[in-house]
Amino acid sequence: MPRLYINLRLLEKNTKEVLSLCSKHNVELIGVTKVSLGDPQVAQCIRNAGVNIIGESRVENIKRMVKSGINRPFMMLRIPAISQLEEIVDLCDYILVSELKTVEAIEEICKNAGKSVNLIYMVDVGDLREGVWYKQAEEEICKAVKICKTSRIIGVGTNLGCYGGILPTNENMAKLVYIRDKIEQRTNTHLPIVSGGNTAALRLLEHSDLPEGVNQYRVGEAIMLGTDVTNNRKIDWLEQKTVVLEAEVIEMKTKPSVPEGQSGLDAFGRQPVFVDKGLRKRAILALGEQDTVPKHLKPLDKNAEVIHASSDHTIVDITEVQRQINVGDTMKFTLSYAALLRAMTCPHVEKIYRGE
Ligand SMILES: *Cc1c(COP(=O)(O)O)cnc(C)c1O
Repeated sequence: MPRLYINLRLLEKNTKEVLSLCSKHNVELIGVTKVSLGDPQVAQCIRNAGVNIIGESRVENIKRMVKSGINRPFMMLRIPAISQLEEIVDLCDYILVSELKTVEAIEEICKNAGKSVNLIYMVDVGDLREGVWYKQAEEEICKAVKICKTSRIIGVGTNLGCYGGILPTNENMAKLVYIRDKIEQRTNTHLPIVSGGNTAALRLLEHSDLPEGVNQYRVGEAIMLGTDVTNNRKIDWLEQKTVVLEAEVIEMKTKPSVPEGQSGLDAFGRQPVFVDKGLRKRAILALGEQDTVPKHLKPLDKNAEVIHASSDHTIVDITEVQRQINVGDTMKFTLSYAALLRAMTCPHVEKIYRGE
């Protein structure tokens, strides 16, 4: 079975570093566990590092954590499905929202149950994922503030760099603060939270370029992987070998680099591209698209290259690798966010914790 080595000590170290940067700029840090399938040990690391609120996108992941003794407070990051609202209100202290209909349903649940929950209304400042478009935000969020009597709108938030790949900047963050200020004036209500960022927005803190008023970040990728995929960078003050994937070599042969015969599509309907490099030494790993995103793996062996994969086989060109690799040996890789997400989710990948 492929193995995922999760280094808890390095995860805690990354969390502490991100927390320290956020604190320096008076930004509260929410630790996001969703890429780990709500792994309780990952959540514990985040808590050990001094972060209080755990951010999650799925009810099932929160239940998994609660079962293992990770307790509130939780923030629901994905705008909630109405069909799951009862559970979400029950489990979470903070919910990101973007629909008046959902806010009404939350208010109804809170009123009936006699409990309160904190809502952060999402504003779309350009990325085109969730949130009310910024030009209509003031109008819509003022209505939401009026709907909430038992529940409470505590602020506004935005998410960038996830769908449209739009980068967080001083300008789009400032829009969020401006909108908050306008709603406060119009409703005469205090909205203390401006939840501006994720991993992609850490750069603004590094360059002290975050506008005054943004005071909360929700961060997952930087903690888990030390990377920032939106800005296409390794975060050099964080650890990258937090999680390493290991797989076993099941075939080791020298073959041509271009297939022979009439060409169709591969097992996933893709048209593979081949470069003729002559005869190459290739390892086949007991690992595939079901376990991870093979193309997003970075071999720890220098000069090894993942060439292609199907559901259960990954082919790695190891012609230029120094060490001798035989059938039965293993190869190790670091992972992208997408590759980690799939590996954490796959029941056929064993999770091994290190540095406890
Ligand atoms: C996933 C998510 C985050 C965390 O994003 P990272 O890029 O992993 O830091 C923050 N906010 C929302 C709404 C999310 O869905």
